[in-house]
Amino acid sequence: MAFDVLNLAPQLLGTLNELGYREPTPIQAQAIPAVLEGHDVLAGAQTGTGKTAAFSLPLIHKLMGSEPVETEGGRRLVRALVLVPTRELAKQVHDSFVLYGKDTGLQCAMAYGGACIATQVKAIKQADVVIATPGRLLDHLRKKVLNFSALQYLVFDEADRMLDMGFKDEIRDVLRQIPNKCQTLLFSATLSDAIYRFAKNLLASPKRIEVAKPNTAAAKIEQRIYAVDSDSKASMVCHLINASDWHQVLIFSRTKQGADKLAETMNKAGIATKAFHGDLSQKVRETVLKEFSEGDVRVLVATDVAARGLDIEDLNYVINMELPHIAEDYVHRIGRTGRAGKDGTAVTLFSNDDALRLEEVETLLDTRLAQQWYPGFEPDLTKFEEPSRKNSRSAAKQRAKKRAFGKKKR
Ligand code: AMP
Repeated sequence: MAFDVLNLAPQLLGTLNELGYREPTPIQAQAIPAVLEGHDVLAGAQTGTGKTAAFSLPLIHKLMGSEPVETEGGRRLVRALVLVPTRELAKQVHDSFVLYGKDTGLQCAMAYGGACIATQVKAIKQADVVIATPGRLLDHLRKKVLNFSALQYLVFDEADRMLDMGFKDEIRDVLRQIPNKCQTLLFSATLSDAIYRFAKNLLASPKRIEVAKPNTAAAKIEQRIYAVDSDSKASMVCHLINASDWHQVLIFSRTKQGADKLAETMNKAGIATKAFHGDLSQKVRETVLKEFSEGDVRVLVATDVAARGLDIEDLNYVINMELPHIAEDYVHRIGRTGRAGKDGTAVTLFSNDDALRLEEVETLLDTRLAQQWYPGFEPDLTKFEEPSRKNSRSAAKQRAKKRAFGKKKR
């Protein structure tokens, strides 16, 4: 199917042609007509499926169909609001709107924490579209910087992640300040019960769209699970990356300290590596990302929250130093690779204390993930690794309970 059957404005078709997008991805083929027809949408789509264009293209088309709304004082009023969980995703969604809307005269602004508020306010006052994280958006609402009286479109991007990060109350507070019913689109990597409950009062007779079975990892990603002793993981990763000559590798570490320590070890082993986590200032994060995407930095060691929403072209390799505490994060993590139909490799270093987490991931994916050994780094079978407290059966139950009651800490 070509893009032109979707009835998008010629300016948009021209831009897509320039970008070399030949045909809509499955999520775009379904979501674009639904949004153009005015439906609310509930979409299950992982990052890498083209979901950003699936909502930004039809919204830009619709916004182009009417004049900007301006106050007598010459200030523009926001007509579309996109809520996202992290500032990195805010930047990516913003960049997509700017890119796709470059020939349309539409103005976009961002609102996220950790950046200069005065610059954001100036941009917001001239914006048709605002992309925001819930916390900073509330700050702007409290300061009366934002006026939602002309709001027509509301998007929740990576809604599951927003709930995981504990943004439910902030979202409720934001929704209270939205006066009229907007056309609302909710995108989520996983469609869990929590998402359905959340969507219930938010969406009116939504079109439900799912491009892949929920909770399945993208098919083109090769998943390898290497059983290895915990104390050999760092040296195995260095060896693996060097021996296979991998570049642009994203490594996930459960903790910031773990990320810093591994980055240090890898640099000592001659692999240009940077850590990427929430303790770094926004400016440092941006520099690190630029170095990584330009190839000056070969490996990024990131925590889950920091890595969420990263969209780096040609990312072929993801390595999990440990399995994440939350099984869904495994899907998000490996979804960093194998994007837009490209092949990807996701390696997980598995040690005994990950056993329960692997079970949780296998249950979620409804697949068995076979373990293998990496020559030279075979686990010492005479060694018994005591499962850590965090991974005991009672801790696993506690986590399940917290999830069920939605009381996860941010
Ligand atoms: P997303 O899932 O929104 O993060 O998009 C993943 C990547 O796919 C981005 O780098 C987009 O630029 C790219 N992309 C989105 N739609 C298309 C398309 N129809 N054809 C080719 N690439 C696309």
